[in-house]
Amino acid sequence: MSVEPFDAVDVIRAKRDHESIDPDALRWMVAAYTRGYVSDAQMAAFAMAVLLNGMGREEIRVLTDAMIASGERMSFAGIGKPTVDKHSTGGVGDKITLPLAPLVASFGVAVPQLSGRGLGQTGGTLDKLESIPGWRADLSPEQIRVQLAQVGAVICAAGAGLAPADRKLYALRDVTATVEAVPLIASSIMSKKIAEGTSALVLDVKVGSGAFMRDHERARELARTMVALGADSGVTTTAVLTAMDTPLGRAVGNANEVREAVEVLAGGGPGDVVELTVALAQEMLALAGRPDVDAAAALRDGRAMDTWRTMIRAQGGDPDAALPRPRETHTVVADRAGVLARMDARAFGVAAWRLGAGRARAGDPVAHAAGVDLHVKPGDAVSAGQPLFTLAADDGVRFGRALDALEGAWEVADDPPAPEPLILERITA
Ligand code: URA
Repeated sequence: MSVEPFDAVDVIRAKRDHESIDPDALRWMVAAYTRGYVSDAQMAAFAMAVLLNGMGREEIRVLTDAMIASGERMSFAGIGKPTVDKHSTGGVGDKITLPLAPLVASFGVAVPQLSGRGLGQTGGTLDKLESIPGWRADLSPEQIRVQLAQVGAVICAAGAGLAPADRKLYALRDVTATVEAVPLIASSIMSKKIAEGTSALVLDVKVGSGAFMRDHERARELARTMVALGADSGVTTTAVLTAMDTPLGRAVGNANEVREAVEVLAGGGPGDVVELTVALAQEMLALAGRPDVDAAAALRDGRAMDTWRTMIRAQGGDPDAALPRPRETHTVVADRAGVLARMDARAFGVAAWRLGAGRARAGDPVAHAAGVDLHVKPGDAVSAGQPLFTLAADDGVRFGRALDALEGAWEVADDPPAPEPLILERITA
């Protein structure tokens, strides 16, 4: 029987008592948890100690390295293009990846966008794309490399071999109220992004009711921690803090979000989606050594749309196929004239989820046509009886609980709300 070099109890106790952790012991803890020697109970106690007592920068770096080392590391060296990826911490109506990846790729930059499925009220990029008939999320590392070289943009599922320690730890955090710790979120996100092999990264850190981080100061701390981790690992990283109090765009769901992304690629679409897509594209292109190009021009002249169509076809999808339509809809109208004062992002996310757009348990199917379409946004004038938003589901029985989630989540008032910027802050190394 082999003898373990460390004891999980000592590592937990050190974190509990605010003592520094031996880096080798921390590395061992992660590896031993991944192979099942350290138990869920021990790792949960450790995660709670981290949530309560925090971690120093060096500890976070070691934790991130250990999670990367738990699995395979991809490399896109040799594809002949710079690589740059974007990661969003998750928001409601956040379909930005869909137009962004082909837009950036249309400038000769490779975008390896390894994404996840949604859990809870945050939508998953893969769930949205799976509304497109024939489209496949699962690609082998070799298929990813070939598509990056030939098309430039890949949006696909992250393989199980990438940072398996994070996969296990994230599921544990989900059920032990330890998701919200900045060192754990930062190491979770960055371990996957660094293992993925991108050479540069732009982080969209969402702030507001529909985001993980409701508080600006904590979002800034998360962004700074992730930018530092990127720098330590040789991945040039920029973070942008963006507002998530109101859903992005006018579509919250799956198929309706793809429809909206296609509008943006066709040179139209809602102003906030276009603004954020272009701003993140410029950040990515700057990191890839193309600071002077005009990203917005590639939306107007169809280059980004051409890349989108090639990208969708390369993964078996038909970009011209009709997207699923809901069987039932329910429209909510204004009870008075005035100005729409607010639309709470979190409540609209929960409503879309209850309509069937999201899943309650990993592995559940999602209803691709379910979701919410917003006909007005905060600041718009409305008349009495004017449609405000439409709920869509495959089964009308779902409308009741979705409407419960929206109770008090929007308001028609006399005065317009104070204008809020979408892009709040930029953080670089
Ligand atoms: N996304 C992740 O991948 N990990 C977290 O901990 C939070 C959001």
